[in-house]
Amino acid sequence: MFWNPWHGCKKCSPGCANCYVYYLDGKRDKDPSAVVRSKTSFDLPKKRDRYGNYKMPSGKEIATCFTSDFFIEEADEWRADAWQCIKARPDVEFLICTKRIHRFCECVPPDWSDGYDNVVIAVSCENQQKADERLPFLLSAPIKRRYIFVAPILEYVKLDEYLKTGKIDQVSVGGESYENARVCDFDWVKRIKRDCDRFGVKFDFHQTGSNFVMDGKHYRIKHRDEYAQAKKGMLYLDTLDKK
Ligand code: SF4
Repeated sequence: MFWNPWHGCKKCSPGCANCYVYYLDGKRDKDPSAVVRSKTSFDLPKKRDRYGNYKMPSGKEIATCFTSDFFIEEADEWRADAWQCIKARPDVEFLICTKRIHRFCECVPPDWSDGYDNVVIAVSCENQQKADERLPFLLSAPIKRRYIFVAPILEYVKLDEYLKTGKIDQVSVGGESYENARVCDFDWVKRIKRDCDRFGVKFDFHQTGSNFVMDGKHYRIKHRDEYAQAKKGMLYLDTLDKK
């Protein structure tokens, strides 16, 4: 499930070049760089249906702020209220993915301490340079569960020095979507999975992207098929493990 308390973002990194928020808003004549608090779903985690049940059921993972960045400066005045929504729902897990992890410590609520149990922080790093800039912040911040999203993957990213700390719970790799998508080479995915296996870190390949290369062959993948094709890729990687 998705919860987008605000919408819109500013490009800040090579991985933002073909941002899907910009692509989709562009099709609707909407300005994606305007960061706007949601009028209808800001407090969605607290909302109930007519039977008194939460609209976001217990036990779900809530992909949070995936049409913006939870730690973007423009949302500073709204974030305290968003944390209140998160705190009100210890029965669901909020997955927050950011490229602005350097702002994390100034953006947590006063009672954060070593982290809320129901929050997973994922740092998105599309290449080696961004991984090396951002992951030290992820490791040193008080967070209960840490994910790395190598997405949109632009090259093989060596994560050994972060994986070996034992502080990373999961690595997830994904390619870029839509018309101008840059290549996602399955060889990079395989190498990152092998690295994760060596350090006993859970790995996922969540989408191929629209411009996928496997064994030197190019494939154009329709966006709606990117997840299913990645699942096939995961099955293939699992069979390699068993050989
Ligand atoms: S940080 Fe994420 S949402 Fe914001 S512009 Fe970059 S890719 Fe898009």
